[in-house]
Amino acid sequence: MSRPRCLPILEKLVAFDTVSRNPNRPLADWVEAYLRGLGVEVRRVPDETGDWVNLWATIGPADVPGYVLSGHTDVVPVDDQPWSSDPFRLRVEDGRAYGRGTTDMKGFDACVLAMVPAMLEKPLARPIHLALSYDEEVGCKGVRRLLAELDRLCPVRPAGVIVGEPTSMEVVIAHKGKESWRTTVTGTSAHSSLAPMAVNAVEWAAELVVAIRAIGRRLATEGPFDPLFDVPHSTAHVGQIHGGTTLNIVPELCWFDWEFRTLPAVDLPALVAEVKAHAFERLLPAMRKIARHVEIRFEQLTELPPVDIAPEHPLTTLTKALAGKNGHKKVAYGTEGGLFRRDGGIPAIVCGPGDIEQAHKPDEFVELSQLAACEAFLERLIAHCRA
Ligand SMILES: [Zn+2]
Repeated sequence: MSRPRCLPILEKLVAFDTVSRNPNRPLADWVEAYLRGLGVEVRRVPDETGDWVNLWATIGPADVPGYVLSGHTDVVPVDDQPWSSDPFRLRVEDGRAYGRGTTDMKGFDACVLAMVPAMLEKPLARPIHLALSYDEEVGCKGVRRLLAELDRLCPVRPAGVIVGEPTSMEVVIAHKGKESWRTTVTGTSAHSSLAPMAVNAVEWAAELVVAIRAIGRRLATEGPFDPLFDVPHSTAHVGQIHGGTTLNIVPELCWFDWEFRTLPAVDLPALVAEVKAHAFERLLPAMRKIARHVEIRFEQLTELPPVDIAPEHPLTTLTKALAGKNGHKKVAYGTEGGLFRRDGGIPAIVCGPGDIEQAHKPDEFVELSQLAACEAFLERLIAHCRA
């Protein structure tokens, strides 16, 4: 195996501490300078502070549909993780490149950037667009801003987007959709000896938790099912609950965080509406019989639409040819692909170097053979775009 040509760039990218809470601007500045040095025009789509920046670049003709290569530039924190070397210094050892983000997903970003000179070598008949986002790890914030500007950045709708999240270069045609919510129940306080005269926020919240769990059970027993997913049905989950102060006070406040993760074919907003209907039509009227000024509030924390592309879609066929794979997979984790599909109207598929098992972990690494495979994939994409 030849040494992947992206390593010097990967070393650069890893050295920027782009944990989502930190501005990614220094990295974006570096990438912009690199691309401009090659003669590529770069468009910045910053947030309102200017410190977090998406980058968009088009190589090739802008007046025909092309392909978007999508990567995020932020990484998850290393706090309290036992790393055996500096996570922001690339360490290449035993056929692996170690460092925060090497798998998720600066490895892909580096491969794409390293292949830009090859894209420029001869004219492309169809363009390749580079989309590098910020804040993917905290709710895909950056790419939403990028997609809001898509008409300006890219007047001709691309034929597809390849999201380079780690799939071990397997072709991933679907992932689930997700919505997460915080529900806050406000009751009334009283001494616990007077419990029936107060609205116990913890107990009413618990009733709603049970209702969510019942929906989860129904999804698990009645489906729909898709055996290509690890968990072959949609799921409901409550992850955190807080309420009350001490045993002899009826708690006035309780909040809990919960989520649905649904198969692409399932109507996710309808499930959320079912929870809200239970809260507002069944629980709240009963609570108000005890006290008037009580309430249940819902606040959406995140939402991410599914990726779902047909096995026979031209983008699927192309991606399989580029990756040298016959089969396809469906995965449990979410990507920006769902937003490209829903908000950008662009068919989306996921294929990138590295194993998702390594993502977010201490001593995160990517196999050099994965980076080389990704570079070969991109070389074939360039050839396809020349023809
Ligand atoms: Zn990622």
